Amino acid sequence: MCGIVGYVGEQECAEILVDGLKRLEYRGYDSAGIAVFQNGKITVEKSKGKLADLEKKMENGKKPHGNCGIGHTRWATHGEPSDINSHPHGNKRVTIVHNGIIENYKQIKDFLISQGYGFESETDTETVAKMLDYYYDGNPIETISKMIDKVNGSYALGILFRDFPDTIFAIRKESPLIVGLGKNENFIASDMTPILKYTKDYYLLEQGEIAVITAKEVKIYNTEEELIQKEVLTADWDADAAEKGGYEHFMLKEINEQPTAIKTTIAPRIQDGMPYLEESGLTMEMLKNYRRIFVVACGTAMHAGLVGKYIIEKLARVEVTVDIASEFRYRDPLIEKEDLVILVSQSGETADTAAALALAKERGAATLAIVNVKGSRIAREADVVIYTHAGPEISVASTKAYSVQLSVMYLIAFELAYAKGVISKERCMELTKSLMEIPDKLNEALALKERCQFIASRLVNAESLLYIGRGLDYALSMEGSLKLKEISYIHSESYAAGELKHGTISLVTDEMPVIAVATQSNLLEKTISNVKEVKARGAKVVVICTNDVEIGKDVANHLIQLPKMEDMLMPLLAAIPMQYIAYYTAVLKGCDVDQPRNLAKSVTVE
Ligand code: GLU
Repeated sequence: MCGIVGYVGEQECAEILVDGLKRLEYRGYDSAGIAVFQNGKITVEKSKGKLADLEKKMENGKKPHGNCGIGHTRWATHGEPSDINSHPHGNKRVTIVHNGIIENYKQIKDFLISQGYGFESETDTETVAKMLDYYYDGNPIETISKMIDKVNGSYALGILFRDFPDTIFAIRKESPLIVGLGKNENFIASDMTPILKYTKDYYLLEQGEIAVITAKEVKIYNTEEELIQKEVLTADWDADAAEKGGYEHFMLKEINEQPTAIKTTIAPRIQDGMPYLEESGLTMEMLKNYRRIFVVACGTAMHAGLVGKYIIEKLARVEVTVDIASEFRYRDPLIEKEDLVILVSQSGETADTAAALALAKERGAATLAIVNVKGSRIAREADVVIYTHAGPEISVASTKAYSVQLSVMYLIAFELAYAKGVISKERCMELTKSLMEIPDKLNEALALKERCQFIASRLVNAESLLYIGRGLDYALSMEGSLKLKEISYIHSESYAAGELKHGTISLVTDEMPVIAVATQSNLLEKTISNVKEVKARGAKVVVICTNDVEIGKDVANHLIQLPKMEDMLMPLLAAIPMQYIAYYTAVLKGCDVDQPRNLAKSVTVE
């Protein structure tokens, strides 16, 4: 959520900071600011709104000059988005940027007020800045350690001490932060995207470690304040992966990257035509012994879990419960030692999912993370991790991360069904082979772009929409509906098609378009009956089905026909028109597709 960038080196840093923050824009934010060492003093510029507003503020010679600074994009949690509440915070002696939430900020604030401190902003962050000032005794490491002991919550902090010019201090707890290692220049950042164009080498800061960063060296201290040696990691994403590459929006680029992303995700996990999850440490023996499965996630990742439930239960006959992470963690779930809890998260930093993981571990269950970002919190804390290889996903609305999560669900379902002896080796190979054909079939689905664009033009004026489907199509329609809401701001709901007449059909009029997903051959007739019910009540209907069925104009106003595959694999293909429809509707409405209002990319707060 939101972002931090820091630079120390030989170049002017203000531009580097703003450019870096732009690359973190996808995480969502409502204000921005920078602090730069200028002639030995810390100079701060900050503004509510977008980075363009900050840049405007710094026009006419107001841009601070210097070679060391920290920058921030804020996603307000304490205090409205405003110039004053924007980061950096602090005073002439200590200035900080912060991502996360300080839970006990009220006590700290009351204490500091009793010590004579005044506060300008309503943020929790300012209390940390002033607390550092309170403890400051000339030794930043000692000062930071004292602060860590007193502060509860999540934080990634970039800190400047006036007495230590051209030095950045950094720490993190729960919120992500890395230290980028360049030549005569070093960086801090919330993730790799702002620094990929300078370097691929980085340190991953662990909880409680303190980094002291100058142009020439990076020192890391552990919680005992001892200097430690850390392994240098190298990112395998190249800088181009984080650029738009000729597409109008990251979302469109990412929709089109799905065939490659799936290929890269599944290829290393298939051996001799069979799923091979041993590569990630998940053995057949382990799979055989799990009694039940819980899939815990948020948003789109949770929808990937719903598809997972259908296919795992159907194929492997193992009971699967899907939970929204923020519900799971507080509902005292009945997890036992023989259970497997699967956590799904693109960023691997989703706070609620990470808390669910901790709970599952506490109860002794086995944990498996399906995560896109290497070394992220959830990836490090789970017993086993299967990385999806989608590359950086910049658009807030997830597309390729969803489909790679699905592809991993399929591999798990196939291998689990085989391990449990429910399907034969031949069937398992047959299913795996079909999964390997998906990337090519996806290219056929991607060619439906113009058709979806046209359909979007028919939906753009709707105030509300209904998505319906049965079984796997229902699970998928939930994701379709979420996508549309997220980026076009058109209200929509997804409904189990058969449930409609038990209430919701009363909403249907000629003003409410319906998108029906009907890709499952055994449910086709039933879903078509439901389509007829809404059509009879005036709804304009879009039907998404396979290209081997005939559906007349009397049933559907618009038809989207996908290449026919195993029923079970159809969600991977049907996701494409759903994503396109949401995308083009948002574009036609003039919405900010890649950074929809009020949303953040990785939700690192509860
Ligand atoms: N809690 C802090 C604030 O509201 C930081 C929010 C963030 O992570 O951007 O200012």
